[in-house]
Amino acid sequence: MKNVEQDKKPSRKRTGTANQARQVTSAMTKRLYIETVGCQMNMLDSELVVASLRHEGYELVATPDLADTILYNTCSVRQHAEDKIYSALGRIKDLKRQHPEKIIGVLGCMAQKDQRRIIKRAPQVDLVVGPGQLHQIPRLLNEIASGGGRKIEVSLSRLSGSREKIEQSFESYDPLRDPRMRPSPYQAFVRIMIGCDKFCTYCIVPSVRGPEQSRAPRHIESEVRQLADEGCREVTLLGQTVNSYRHRENSRDVRLADLLYRLHAIEGIDRIKFVTNYPRDMSDELLEAVRDLPKCSPYLHVPVQSGSNRILRRMKRGYTVEEYREMYCRIHATVPGAAVTSDFIVGFCGETESDFEQTVALVRESRFKNSFIFKYSTRPGTKGAERFEDDVPDVVKRRRNNELLEIQNAISEEDNQPLVGRSFEVLVEGPSKTSLRQPETGPVLQLVGRTLCDRIVVFDGTQRQIGRIIPVRIDEANAHTLFGSMVTRHVGPEVYTLNVPD
Ligand code: SF4
Repeated sequence: MKNVEQDKKPSRKRTGTANQARQVTSAMTKRLYIETVGCQMNMLDSELVVASLRHEGYELVATPDLADTILYNTCSVRQHAEDKIYSALGRIKDLKRQHPEKIIGVLGCMAQKDQRRIIKRAPQVDLVVGPGQLHQIPRLLNEIASGGGRKIEVSLSRLSGSREKIEQSFESYDPLRDPRMRPSPYQAFVRIMIGCDKFCTYCIVPSVRGPEQSRAPRHIESEVRQLADEGCREVTLLGQTVNSYRHRENSRDVRLADLLYRLHAIEGIDRIKFVTNYPRDMSDELLEAVRDLPKCSPYLHVPVQSGSNRILRRMKRGYTVEEYREMYCRIHATVPGAAVTSDFIVGFCGETESDFEQTVALVRESRFKNSFIFKYSTRPGTKGAERFEDDVPDVVKRRRNNELLEIQNAISEEDNQPLVGRSFEVLVEGPSKTSLRQPETGPVLQLVGRTLCDRIVVFDGTQRQIGRIIPVRIDEANAHTLFGSMVTRHVGPEVYTLNVPD
């Protein structure tokens, strides 16, 4: 059962004009503009929404004014991400007034969280669809275009029924893939689970993405096989807590380690990554699979969030700094040379200077490959917002953010220096940003790719190398990027020994 609302009585005048214009538009090609904010899950959702709408005859356009349907795929993890969407909606208000036939939709986490409130704040919106209902979009757009009025389609709230019913209302959305929507056709995200049951006190994900549910391994395998057939060489398995993956099959649990073995056997796929990991579920079996499977990237993103046990308790992260440290040592003992990255939230409710200093100490000690650092912002609907006061002033949050970032950047730069002079196999993604900005001047262009450890490498190459894995020697390095040159193999004259008979 879903929480479905319909508003079939928008103002008469507007409906009449809009409907006539929509009917004319629907006879022509339908043009879609989509903007995405947030995580890789959202990028994947947008890819799938576009694929399903392309099937219905839509084509993508670059700006809202060229589109008949304007969609915003939203994020609720931080206030800043929501503000961005409301500003974008504000910017197209006049466009909607001039062209009432245009359909404006808000999708994703903010849609699930705010539901009807979005329409109150932005009455130009015609469609609100939560992340568990994205498969309904083609039908809903058709209904709106034929005068069905506004549509709000969201999943059940986490407290509104049995777990089974709530799970059913968050459908995993994994239909068609569209290589044209991916930044590189050689790399793809593959969702292996949805939702989260960890309920960290700062996080809105368990409410907006629903209960933790793992997809059947055979569905994941067939999707990866299809991607390989389309020329994809690297897959990144996605889950909010990807290493918590568990699916019951033939009376036994299939865990992420088992899944990696199965995907590793798929021909055409050369690299497998997975994000994001939950520290408590980093099992020995998983680390051994990463060590033993050559296609598996030894890149592990395992957010710790804080170096203070008091703050971790308040965040309800479910582990202590000592337990995280033990897991971190186990990673390096099992997978030598692993590239470990982390997330941090600074300025969480009640975080003192001493708590922050403990976080600084953990960053210095752990030497993560890199860290994503965020200032805490209250998320209404979370336990953190209910129980704690957001009492760290913004100026302090900003200072802590900058300080931690500076320390992490210095570590990343230092740890990248020993890579200079070494060679790495790089999967070439395409032209670098700089090269995209410059018109082509010759056969050589600047390319960007990644090592198996997820390090970004920039080097000069040719168009033909895009999508291939090639050796690159590193000449220079900064905190975030390695700069290199292609390793060319010397081909000398071949020498044959003549067998001269005695
Ligand atoms: S583990 Fe915590 S932070 Fe991560 S998605 Fe789940 S609730 Fe949010």
